[in-house]
Amino acid sequence: MTPELFLRLALPSPLRRSFDYLPPEGVDPRTLQPGVRLRVPFGRRELVGVLLEVADHSEVPADKLRPAIACLDNAPLLPAHLLVLARWAAAYYQHPVGDALFSLLPAQLRQGVPAAFRHERLWVARSSESAALARAPRQQELLALIVRHPDGISLDAIKALGYAPGLLRNLAERGLVEAVTRELQPAAGAAEGELLHESPLTLNREQQEALAALAESGDRFGAFLLQGVTGSGKTEVYLQAIERVLKQGRQALVLVPEIGLTPQTVGRFRQRFNVPVEVLHSGLNDRERLDAWLKAREGLARILIGTRSALLTPLKNPGLIVIDEEHDGSFKQQEGFRYSARDLAVMRARAERIPIVLGSATPSLETLSNAQSGRYHWLQMKSRAGGARPPAFELLDIRGLELDEGLCASLLNEIGRHLARGEQVLVFLNRRGFAPTLMCHDCGWIADCPQCDAHMTLHRRPPHLHCHHCDFQSPLQPACPECQSRNLNPVGAGTERTEESLARHFPEVPVLRVDRDSTRRKDAMAKILARVHQPGPCLLVGTQMLAKGHHFPRVTLVAILDADAGLFSADFRGMEKMGQLLLQVAGRSGRAETPGRVLMQTLHADHPRLRTLVEEPYEVFAGQELAERRLAQLPPYSHLALLRAEAISMGRAEAFLQMVRALVEPLCGPELVLLGPLPSPMELRAGRYRAQLLLQCARRGPLQGAVGRLALLLENNPQAKKVRWSIDIDPQDMF
Ligand code: ADP
Ligand code: ZN
Ligand code: ZN
Repeated sequence: MTPELFLRLALPSPLRRSFDYLPPEGVDPRTLQPGVRLRVPFGRRELVGVLLEVADHSEVPADKLRPAIACLDNAPLLPAHLLVLARWAAAYYQHPVGDALFSLLPAQLRQGVPAAFRHERLWVARSSESAALARAPRQQELLALIVRHPDGISLDAIKALGYAPGLLRNLAERGLVEAVTRELQPAAGAAEGELLHESPLTLNREQQEALAALAESGDRFGAFLLQGVTGSGKTEVYLQAIERVLKQGRQALVLVPEIGLTPQTVGRFRQRFNVPVEVLHSGLNDRERLDAWLKAREGLARILIGTRSALLTPLKNPGLIVIDEEHDGSFKQQEGFRYSARDLAVMRARAERIPIVLGSATPSLETLSNAQSGRYHWLQMKSRAGGARPPAFELLDIRGLELDEGLCASLLNEIGRHLARGEQVLVFLNRRGFAPTLMCHDCGWIADCPQCDAHMTLHRRPPHLHCHHCDFQSPLQPACPECQSRNLNPVGAGTERTEESLARHFPEVPVLRVDRDSTRRKDAMAKILARVHQPGPCLLVGTQMLAKGHHFPRVTLVAILDADAGLFSADFRGMEKMGQLLLQVAGRSGRAETPGRVLMQTLHADHPRLRTLVEEPYEVFAGQELAERRLAQLPPYSHLALLRAEAISMGRAEAFLQMVRALVEPLCGPELVLLGPLPSPMELRAGRYRAQLLLQCARRGPLQGAVGRLALLLENNPQAKKVRWSIDIDPQDMF
């Protein structure tokens, strides 16, 4: 007799464990491969789970084991090495495996939808005999139409041609037509003929060297940092590296930051390649996402472009992974399954035995230190492609100067001069809304959010107060709620206010605002971009949405209204992020023949780090930051895990973390340092008090060990049920 076999499943459950089942009735468990989905009973519900393994023993008592209901797939959803990677990631990030796995798969697969292309109902003719229709000319016409489509025609197409559905029903009742179901075959794979729509640019020497180094890696694993100043032609290097891969019949996966996934970016790939380019973007519905995923898996999509969640999309024949703007914070998911798509992509490339390129003008300190230590190949491009010159930086010391709604007189002058020459100017201010807050000048009242430790932002269009942390909104009152005074004034400036004041100063020049509010409508961004690419002066005002991936060849001046925002941040990454953002914004200017200028208003014109940033190449700034991190034993010289807790009172959140500290201390060796519990930098958010406990260790191993055991202890801890807690491994954001 063969030994009994058990199915070990990952289920979408908050528990950090797998679940054992008996095989569905009549199914030989030896025919089931890890990675197939099964429908199973779970309590009184049914769930869809993923088979992790077929085991020959189970800890679950025999009378508690239930059979699965049905297997949903003939073949695994993911190839074995990606399933292994997903399991590894769940363990590494301390997240329940089922939830981790499903958050990397299209939503419909979680619901049990077949992993197959959509099926379509088409109408075909059973007979062309229309004699019976002599007195029904419309039915006759429709029948003739259907006869002309021997492969079938959809109801939608029939309706679009002006035939009422009733006509079709009549034909069906007469037995003249019938419906058939067909799998919708997506557009054929590689298009016939040429691979390229347009010829590639002739690479300059630095680009050639980068491409050659990539080509040399061939079909082995290799991680490459492509560090090239903005405008150095990194994208052109990606395109030509991808071309090589396509010629070998392989596919490329390109991950881009959330706000980098613009039609412009996608356009460059589609313009270059005469092959199917699939894009996984937020505008797709669930069915479209699944289709794109399937096309990648079946090898029909040759290039897949997506944001972090596209990370685990299976590729039939992978050849290259590209992470564009690898320093971007959006590659780390900040809630639920808190994974880093960048770090996992490197693991994936290793598992697939293919090269991966991490590209940036301002690489993260983690990646830079991997390049310095030789773990990553370091490719550098220091000059701009196509002969454009690098922008020239100037710090504008605004100490003691009177500002006109956030702009000093000399900056206004310079803006005017560039506009007068018919050039474009970009004004950067990383605060949307009209003003950061509203204040009563009689009693000092400030519009605070009742649910957060934060001011409410004043918006003018439409007028209201809005908390950007919890989304709380309130109408604008004419008088101060404390003293009834009408002397309420906006404090500081956001993009709306700057837009208004620039429009006042330069009434003859169009002012375009780019932030989350102005681009909410679907085609808004496209309209703005179209205007920017027309000749003639204009002013662009915006937030960091302007910093990524755009080319503004007509912009010759970038004005940064507040260069100091990150200088004194409570977050140890604050300085790094500030430097990256400022250089990225600066890099939008002067990309064509005219050189660009960057003017930065600052109250700290002598700040050594700010000076380094504007006077030296990025590596020098980054080098200083790295030296400080080394001294403070912060990442990348140590590893962090952050335990966050939220509760209805601060006492409760802190007491919970005290208990956690007591639990974890005996699990820690001497290397592990515990910091906290401390209130989070923003103590109150969305009505909940927040505290955190930081675990720090020079080596990953001991940290992982301790945190892993802690997570299991907490799962069964009654006190843990009274707070919301989470574990963030390699946290990016300390708030
Ligand atoms: P990056 O991604 O590094 O910011 P891009 O790849 O977008 O840079 O290139 C910046 C500009 O330079 C683009 O307009 C691009 O067409 C142009 N460019 C890139 N490589 C070359 C080249 N070898 N010769 C001429 N122009 C180039
Ligand atoms: Zn008042
Ligand atoms: Zn709030």
